[in-house]
Amino acid sequence: MSLTRFTALADSNNRTPIAIEEKGRRSDLFGNNVFNDKRMLQYLTKDALESVKNAISSGSKINRKIADQVAEAMKGWAISMGATHYTHWFQPLTGATAEKHDAFFDLLPDGTALEKFGGDQLVQQEPDASSFPSGGIRNTFEARGYTAWDPTSPAFIYGTTLCIPTIFVSYTGEALDNKAPLLRALAAVDEAATAVAKYFDKNVSKVNATLGWEQEYFLIDKALAHSRPDIVLTGRTLVGNFAAKGQQLDDHYFGVIPSRVLSFMSELEKECTKLGVPVKTRHNEVAPNQFELAPVFEEANLAVDHNLLLMDVMDKVADKHGFKVLFHEKPFAGINGSGKHNNWSLATDTGVNLLSPGSTPMKNLQFLTFFINTIKAVDRYEELLRSSIASASNDHRLGTNEAPPAIFSIFIGTQLSGVLDELEGVSKGKLSPQEKTELKLNVVGKIPEILLDNTDRNRTSPFAFTGNKFEMRGVGAKTNSAKPMTILNMIVAKQLQEFKKEVDALIDKKDLKKDEAVFNILREYIKTSKRIRFDGDGYSKEWENEAKKRKLSNNKNTPDALQVLTSKESLALFKATKVMSEVEVGARLEVELDTYILNIQIEGRVYNELVYGFIIPAAIAYQNKLIANVTGLKDIYGAAHKKFSEGQLAMIEEIGEHLVEIKKMTDAMTDARRRANVIIDSKKKSEAYCQNVKPYFDVIRTHSDKLEKLMDDKLWPLTKYRELLFIK
Ligand code: ADP
Ligand code: MG
Repeated sequence: MSLTRFTALADSNNRTPIAIEEKGRRSDLFGNNVFNDKRMLQYLTKDALESVKNAISSGSKINRKIADQVAEAMKGWAISMGATHYTHWFQPLTGATAEKHDAFFDLLPDGTALEKFGGDQLVQQEPDASSFPSGGIRNTFEARGYTAWDPTSPAFIYGTTLCIPTIFVSYTGEALDNKAPLLRALAAVDEAATAVAKYFDKNVSKVNATLGWEQEYFLIDKALAHSRPDIVLTGRTLVGNFAAKGQQLDDHYFGVIPSRVLSFMSELEKECTKLGVPVKTRHNEVAPNQFELAPVFEEANLAVDHNLLLMDVMDKVADKHGFKVLFHEKPFAGINGSGKHNNWSLATDTGVNLLSPGSTPMKNLQFLTFFINTIKAVDRYEELLRSSIASASNDHRLGTNEAPPAIFSIFIGTQLSGVLDELEGVSKGKLSPQEKTELKLNVVGKIPEILLDNTDRNRTSPFAFTGNKFEMRGVGAKTNSAKPMTILNMIVAKQLQEFKKEVDALIDKKDLKKDEAVFNILREYIKTSKRIRFDGDGYSKEWENEAKKRKLSNNKNTPDALQVLTSKESLALFKATKVMSEVEVGARLEVELDTYILNIQIEGRVYNELVYGFIIPAAIAYQNKLIANVTGLKDIYGAAHKKFSEGQLAMIEEIGEHLVEIKKMTDAMTDARRRANVIIDSKKKSEAYCQNVKPYFDVIRTHSDKLEKLMDDKLWPLTKYRELLFIK
């Protein structure tokens, strides 16, 4: 019987690129499947349109009558586009998206068939959600969970289904998803940033957080991926000897995109364009078979939805092209993992990017205000920000190869550091006219020129200023960006609230002019947030020691990183910004810990299966071949056989030693799992999995990889790295 590995290889070799028709312009396709402004103008009455627009800009409620009108219009449009079903599309705490499809089709009591979809169905649904994680919220309160329409993210048609983006909450209003807290954090940052932006421009009435994500992923031939139980069940390779060639030649990065991949990308982009996802760049990444896709940035809530939608579309399009997409943060040992850089900024409704310096000193003071407040917020809440990107899979990536380390720090470049150093010298209280002129001309006024040649970029900083935005680089490829975006926007909101209070107090009590007050507070922030600024090598032992001195957190694994969520200070912050209640935060911690435990548990089980079901039998089969050979030689040559069988005997022994060890380690790991499984407390259980179970994985892997190297290639049952990574 031939090994699955070889049939998979044959399948993959037989594939050819699927031709994708490129007709017309992409811009004509854009948003064709979205119930966007253009469609609303076409399908909604003036009242309904206004009501939806108000809901989007100011969060006002849409009444039932209007909701009925909107539903009717959506239905008309969707059916004209060939849709047969509708679904509330939501983001449960599993990290993925969920949907339950209902047909528009309905029967009247007299048996007449018709298409039905009213305001009630649009606004609220009660999915049978009992199997989504809730961290105990639903047990404590009320069993039901509801999805509720989020009018700020437009409905879209995917396949033949009208998808309505929704939040997912319990009967008593606790968030059971990732979207509800994000919307609250975005409301908080809008309010706080608008109040501060008004210092500089009275016309500002809304500030949106903007997000531009960069999605990295691996593309593996479907048959090959499916031939590996570890990839199928855990999304990564648990064993696998490094290919003789890895990424050392750097020949993949920005190289020519293979034609099968290119046709996958073309179709993916076409689908995304129709769905209103503004995809823009595509290229090879550093590791073999690794790629990246990035869109034009958008309002953060919409950008998060679009990223989740993209991941889903990618899975489907890849399947059609004979690929499997791996979003795991570290699918292969020894080469780069995949991240999802989150580029973030704040934009006013007057069209100004608050993290972009302008042409006048006042505009630059505005830039400095938001820039320094962001630094201050990250300095104060660095550990909380770190917690937002913690996951079992991202633990493998942070701190390795190109990925940023687990210690949060901010890179701003030497030029801007120079500006902050100068500002630190600003006098206390009132500023003399000379000092003001000097500041305006030589410090604040020079910022735009400085940024033009701010080329000393640090590619591995966890939080880097890149000219007109901050780039958060620790976010994992699989992570729902709603999580880091909730925390980042919340901490900036809190910081801006405090800044406003402090500046107002100086203006009122010390009689300072507005710009003097702003300079005074910024000066203090620069002084007190220095520890978070770091421009050097984040991997070095020196930095680890230095960071410890600076009292920056260095949580290397998920159970440790998550604990800060329920600290007194964090809970107070969640409450003050109205992002989450104590119950909601507690539930979230519980869900995150459980997810971590389950992930490690599954990996442990898969190791068992790989070792006993594949690796040991294969190694024994090969060892038997060698033994038969040695016995044969002995039959022929008697005592003289050693002259010819020395090598085989050594290999028999070497295989035997690895077999003994791999079995011992696998059994010890299974025991450790048994002991961990009886622990009730999630925190202790996650720690047991992290400290007592997980360490066996690498040891088991080492023996397996050595065996793979020793063995007859034809007998090795698991598709190899060189096959997974280099066949196009
Ligand atoms: P790179 O980080 O690879 O050098 P770019 O600097 O061109 O690439 O931009 C990367 C991402 O940053 C893109 O997704 C882009 O949409 C996003 N981006 C650019 N400006 C902003 C902004 N003001 N707010 C949020 N994201 C932005
Ligand atoms: Mg980038």
